[in-house]
Amino acid sequence: MKPSSETTSQDRLREAGIRITGPRLRIYEYLQTHRTHPTCDVIYRDLKAKDESLSLASVYNVTEKLAEVGLINELISPDGQKHYDGIIDFHGHFFCKECGKIMDVSCGKDFIPDELDGVRLDSMSLIMSGVCRDCLG
Ligand SMILES: [Zn+2]
Ligand SMILES: [Zn+2]
Repeated sequence: MKPSSETTSQDRLREAGIRITGPRLRIYEYLQTHRTHPTCDVIYRDLKAKDESLSLASVYNVTEKLAEVGLINELISPDGQKHYDGIIDFHGHFFCKECGKIMDVSCGKDFIPDELDGVRLDSMSLIMSGVCRDCLG
């Protein structure tokens, strides 16, 4: 039995005000456990193995919906591909130009520059790019 303080994925979908469906739940949970910033193609490929009825179109629909209600973040990498991130706490990203890997970069709220003092900041995205340690060898 789970402790009652634990918020489940179902709770999160319910709180966001969207109907709970199998694909929404599975894709949301996938993104909570895979911090690799997958594209729809990758999500589809991984989940298709467990769910034969899943279509690529529904992966596109579900990720779009989850992003719309703020449960996941959409991230456009410098190569123009759309990636999804189940972690919505503020953080930045480092994109490797060689292997295409996207790493999470922690940067707290104190990262916000003085110029933005007094504004209401609704979203922020920080993408850095370069070559990762693995690719530098
Ligand atoms: Zn790399
Ligand atoms: Zn991230």
